[in-house]
Amino acid sequence: MAGHPEVFETPAARALSETDKLRLIEALGDIPHSTDKSRVKKKSLDFYWYSPVLKTRLAEMRGDIVVTPRNEADVIQVVSICAELQVPVTVRGAGTGNYGQAVPLAGGVILDMIEMDEVVWTKPGLVRVQAGKLMLKLDRQIRATGWEQRMFPSTKRTATIGGFVAGGSGGVGSVTYGVLGDRGNINAARVITCEKTPRILELRGDQANAVNHAYGTTGIITELEMPLAPAWPWRDVVVSFDGFAKAAEFGQALALSDAIVKKLVTPIAWPIPSFLPRLNEQLPDGRDIVICMIAEPSMQGFADLVAAHGGEVVYDVDAQSVEDDPSSVLPLYEYTWNHTTLHAMKVDKSFTYLQSLFPVENSLEVVDQMIRKFGDETPMHLEMIRFGGQVITCGLQLVRFTTEERLDDIIAYHEANGVAIANPHVWTLEDGAPGKEVPAEQSIFKNHADPLGLLNPGKMRSFRPVAA
Ligand SMILES: Cc1cc2nc3c(=O)[nH]c(=O)nc-3n(C[C@H](O)[C@H](O)[C@H](O)COP(=O)(O)OP(=O)(O)OC[C@H]3O[C@@H](n4cnc5c(N)ncnc54)[C@H](O)[C@@H]3O)c2cc1C
Repeated sequence: MAGHPEVFETPAARALSETDKLRLIEALGDIPHSTDKSRVKKKSLDFYWYSPVLKTRLAEMRGDIVVTPRNEADVIQVVSICAELQVPVTVRGAGTGNYGQAVPLAGGVILDMIEMDEVVWTKPGLVRVQAGKLMLKLDRQIRATGWEQRMFPSTKRTATIGGFVAGGSGGVGSVTYGVLGDRGNINAARVITCEKTPRILELRGDQANAVNHAYGTTGIITELEMPLAPAWPWRDVVVSFDGFAKAAEFGQALALSDAIVKKLVTPIAWPIPSFLPRLNEQLPDGRDIVICMIAEPSMQGFADLVAAHGGEVVYDVDAQSVEDDPSSVLPLYEYTWNHTTLHAMKVDKSFTYLQSLFPVENSLEVVDQMIRKFGDETPMHLEMIRFGGQVITCGLQLVRFTTEERLDDIIAYHEANGVAIANPHVWTLEDGAPGKEVPAEQSIFKNHADPLGLLNPGKMRSFRPVAA
């Protein structure tokens, strides 16, 4: 693939010899760990296979040992030993990342954070939580206090909050609150540095950007302080339209309707609705849809907007009861964001996808241009979000994959026409970023927090360890 680096071996990290492995195991003492091959394989992989490109490159990548810290003291002990022996450390949440974020490229320790899942404290509008907390469990716990997470990935039912902050970007809720990187969405992160004598750092406010979407290359997050949103009673609603242009216009108008409280606005073009299991039985054939989550008290304004745009509500249920019992139909958010791609891949294995940001000034015109150019090769799926204070049309369009060259051509055409692509078919931070570089605060912080380059080596391509 053009501009794609070969798998990178960090200069400092080296293959773990049998002697070092024994020293490591001895030094771990009673900290839970496993070298069982099937467990190591399971914990080495994530949803990297979403991309046919990553699927061929990352399938054989493995760590050497899975270590499961019970608390922060365990994390410090593990990291100190790894720095001493120069063993790579790849932190892992639930392993739902889909660009191979959690796949170790240079072996070593997989630091599985799943046991660190306590809520440290809550205040009105704020929660302090350990990084391994599953987001569904967190929402359930804080809902009782009248609050909920501002945003979550569509993998809320399986992903950890630490993995979302370190490996994700935004999702359900982003149409109102923006993305994780927007100032004010992460209050603080408690981070352990990777050194012989690890330090505990409290990164507050903007400082926390150093670990946001850095794939665990800039420190190990043990706790997060996250601002919350008022917990509304939500409705899961689908509106159908005669033509995708109308669906997209409605989606944009809804995103811009600040007085309608909402959490999700997802325009999806036919035939994608036919790929959505169980929900498809309730959707009209051949129609384009917009999947929405609307606060119940806003349903009047929402209905008026639907009528003004000539849409038809074809599905409307209480979102909470579906999340509590997803046996008949899934919560609507599990048909959106990257779940849309997952459902399509289950119907036709040749599907993969793109991640794009359409230009603000004429986004729907450019969407239409791409539909006319690529037609059925890239069925359209949009997510309306706020980003940097503006409503942005974000594309997660499906792609019928044929060759890497063709995929490169499709990406190049989008970029040449003003569509920024966050490439999901690469594993380095640089290649995945629309600007093709790591934010300066992350590369500077990396030298400070991981001077030996042991954290998830190979993911920050531009980094060269000073200490080495
Ligand atoms: C079906 C599907 C839908 C998805 N939808 C979305 C979506 O809507 N929005 C979105 O942003 N993403 C989405 N993703 C990607 C992913 O699910 C989310 O980003 C999720 O939050 C990752 O959480 P995780 O616990 O699985 O993290 P993992 O996959 O385990 O880790 C992600 C990255 O974070 C690092 N990491 C994990 N924990 C820590 C820690 N404590 N300290 C430092 N680094 C750490 C890992 O090394 C890795 O690089 C989706 C993926 C799939 C497969």
